[in-house]
Amino acid sequence: MTLFDGNALAGDLVDVLGPDATSARLRCAGCGSLGVLGRARTYRTAMGSVARCVDCDSVLVTVVTDGARRWVAMPGVRAALL
Ligand SMILES: [Zn+2]
Repeated sequence: MTLFDGNALAGDLVDVLGPDATSARLRCAGCGSLGVLGRARTYRTAMGSVARCVDCDSVLVTVVTDGARRWVAMPGVRAALL
């Protein structure tokens, strides 16, 4: 597993959130902090990526891929401000 910042998710999320996805502001459901996706602590594996809150480590965004398809979830996001 390799650690990146939230900018590593840009390619995966562009179809869902638009061309500037990493500047989307997300409110963490775990601690209530508000920050841009690009600042999230992001871990990437062969199966996908997990972005975690820099303040409380809650899982904000997951991207899972089988090579042809991607599944995006935002389990720890209370609100996204685009
Ligand atoms: Zn948090």
